[in-house]
Amino acid sequence: MDENDIRPKFLEIEHKKVIKNDVMWLKEKQKNFSLVCCPSCGSNNYKYLYKKYFLTQVLCKDCNTQFVNPRPTEKILKEFYSRSVNYEFFAKNIFSRTEEVRLKKIFMPRAKYLSKKIDTKGKTLLEIGAAYGFFVEAVKKLKLFKKIIAVEPTPDLAAKLRKKNNLVVIEKAYENIVMKEKVDVVANFEVIEHLYNPKKFLKWCYDITKPNGCIFLTCPNISGFETTVLGKFSTSVDHEHLNMFNPNSISLLLKNVGFKFIEVTTPGKLDVDLVRSALDKKNIKSNALGGFLQQLYKENNTKKLKQFQNFLSSSGESSHMMILAYKK
Ligand SMILES: [Zn+2]
Repeated sequence: MDENDIRPKFLEIEHKKVIKNDVMWLKEKQKNFSLVCCPSCGSNNYKYLYKKYFLTQVLCKDCNTQFVNPRPTEKILKEFYSRSVNYEFFAKNIFSRTEEVRLKKIFMPRAKYLSKKIDTKGKTLLEIGAAYGFFVEAVKKLKLFKKIIAVEPTPDLAAKLRKKNNLVVIEKAYENIVMKEKVDVVANFEVIEHLYNPKKFLKWCYDITKPNGCIFLTCPNISGFETTVLGKFSTSVDHEHLNMFNPNSISLLLKNVGFKFIEVTTPGKLDVDLVRSALDKKNIKSNALGGFLQQLYKENNTKKLKQFQNFLSSSGESSHMMILAYKK
């Protein structure tokens, strides 16, 4: 899988325009942003890194979480996502074109990983931010879980999810849901980096999980290969990602809300390709990579680059991470 498989390159210019529109909308609300402490460890000991778009990125000196500070409040974010032209663009142009590859290369492996880790027979899964239902689809294909609940506050997406069989759809933001029963597995993918208050969200997840249940999530890893090499030019650093954890800081946060036995893996597959793309676009200079990487990219040996990506993924150094944590 490369970047073009999930974000077609011919849509890039159009995509940039819609992002600009969203960024401008946020910028107008700037005076109402609020200052926060580190979203992982709660420390107030952070340093200024750089600005991207107009947002200030800071780094926690205690746990190395990178975060946007000051940041849009919960109220601003709610309005932002309900009118985001970027989300609309993704729905119409990107997800529809990349559905098959996303299911096969991203969501099936996630579902398979989960099925190897836990016994899902007779159990209940709740996914927050089920969106297009890729994970729901993957889980169904593998015949995992007895009951699946999909939480999706966006009306259009919720309507699509309702068309799927044997699926309970809750069209609400998680804060407004009162669960009558606890669930065995809470899943959420690429959700936590968008939130104003990730700890509050994880606490909610913890509270609705049965004893011996678990949480399963994915998010960017700010200390991975691509995010480290590209810094502010990483596509992970954007106006939507307010919290950029690393394996240690996400573990710390999960521990703080009560989860135990935290397993972090980095199955990301795009690091090598994203760095190449940044070189092609001249976002970074080749000599900034250092001699070793410069040679690797110059040589352009497909097999070797693939092996390098496999090394990054298997050694915990990819910029996309997956976490499983238990309530015991
Ligand atoms: Zn911290």
